[in-house]
Amino acid sequence: MKITADFHTHTRYSHGKGTVEDNAVNALSLGLRAVAITDHARNHPLVGVKPDKIDVIRKDVTAVGKEYKNIRVLLGLEANVISPRGDIDVSEEDAQKLDVLLVGFHLTAYQKKLTDYFRLPFNGLTHIFCKNSAKQIVRNTDAIIACLEKNKVDVLTHPGFRIDVDYAEIGRACAETGTFMEISSRHRVPGREGIEQALNAGAKFIINSDAHKPVYVGKCGWALSLAEEMGLTENEIVNVSDKPIRFARGLEI
Ligand SMILES: [Zn+2]
Ligand SMILES: [Zn+2]
Repeated sequence: MKITADFHTHTRYSHGKGTVEDNAVNALSLGLRAVAITDHARNHPLVGVKPDKIDVIRKDVTAVGKEYKNIRVLLGLEANVISPRGDIDVSEEDAQKLDVLLVGFHLTAYQKKLTDYFRLPFNGLTHIFCKNSAKQIVRNTDAIIACLEKNKVDVLTHPGFRIDVDYAEIGRACAETGTFMEISSRHRVPGREGIEQALNAGAKFIINSDAHKPVYVGKCGWALSLAEEMGLTENEIVNVSDKPIRFARGLEI
């Protein structure tokens, strides 16, 4: 099994190491049919993409796409969960400039209100040492579900990374909103159990590299091995065949 497109890669526009062209060249060398440039959105400390930069990145993505005709180069952003009420740091107006919108929980992202830090990130810190309490897992899960319901989201990135969640509940929300749940090779989430729970709730999956260096673009060994072990196929994972993919926000590829 191999992925045919990588919808989650970073560049120097946030804190990746390479350029848009570097990511495209590496994706092309693996025979991928598409690669998305999905840098961190504005509330990622120090490196987040400011809204006025989106047009600059779009120009770059378009130019690289013209240069390398055998691969589709797409523009996206990886938005942050910035409140327990489902707010993200990409406005709908800005999201409309993108091909794909990813959303993920990041421990260090600036929250919308001071009190919001006590609901998710501070508990994320405790996650480093122990599993979140049952009450906190409900809070985490509700925040992510609120995000999916409040915003049209194409991909939920690395669910369960630095935050414990109820995969069945999140899987159900993904199924209802048409959001693909990422199996993250970089962060190694969700594991087997989480995938099973989300799968039973009707979720569809996407396997991405979350590469922060060009050489890692398209490299998803951990996720692909797990998927194979579990007997998953193109029926459950949208980007392991050449079948067209229809994203929640409308991209068809
Ligand atoms: Zn991320
Ligand atoms: Zn990422």
